[in-house]
Amino acid sequence: MADLAAFQAWMSAFAEEVSTHAEHLTDLDRAIGDGDHGSNMARGVDKVAALADDGEYPSLNAYLKKVGMTLVSTVGGASGPLYGTFFLRMAGPLADVEDPGTEELGHALRAGVEGVVSRGKAELEDKTMYDAWAPAVEAFESSVDDGTQAALEAAAAAAARGRDSTEGLIARKGRASYLGERSRGHIDPGAASTALLLQAAARTLA
Ligand code: ADP
Ligand code: MG
Repeated sequence: MADLAAFQAWMSAFAEEVSTHAEHLTDLDRAIGDGDHGSNMARGVDKVAALADDGEYPSLNAYLKKVGMTLVSTVGGASGPLYGTFFLRMAGPLADVEDPGTEELGHALRAGVEGVVSRGKAELEDKTMYDAWAPAVEAFESSVDDGTQAALEAAAAAAARGRDSTEGLIARKGRASYLGERSRGHIDPGAASTALLLQAAARTLA
């Protein structure tokens, strides 16, 4: 059941993943950015995890909008508005849906990823979080007939492969793009945090 409680569990699990891997995310960002991705994300997801204790939400849609706004206002950097937009847009297809089925969840994920693209204008192989998001949502959609758990597992595995694929790429968006050729040989930090988000979803959302 991907109901409100499951989404709250997802955000708690994401906060756990980020806190476990914060130093790693920061190391990745130190190599090709400014070394703040772990702390940026930890600050935001801790606030988001605390929302679960923050009283009742009238709907899943209201909760996701609150998550999005919280990420926009607390994460900062390039990644805060991108993750924030993901959740704000994900809320759209879930208006009036309290326990989305696999197909509805796929639509919501797709809408969220379209938000990331409209905000950041990244294309595939620009070496950004989109290189993890794009294969994840595609894998989810290809596995819709297998049910939510299987689709989330497929999405998490695809996001991890997408994360790994960024290592060989030259960054064309964000701070890492200033390094040009020297950005090659490092995993993109945002792709790594997106893989954690999908991994957390596979643990909790179904
Ligand atoms: P900043 O780069 O401002 O310090 P963070 O370190 O928190 O912000 O986040 C960096 C991550 O943001 C990158 O690793 C990349 O995945 C992502 N990113 C940056 N610009 C874009 C963009 N235009 N589209 C998608 N993702 C982006
Ligand atoms: Mg940074």
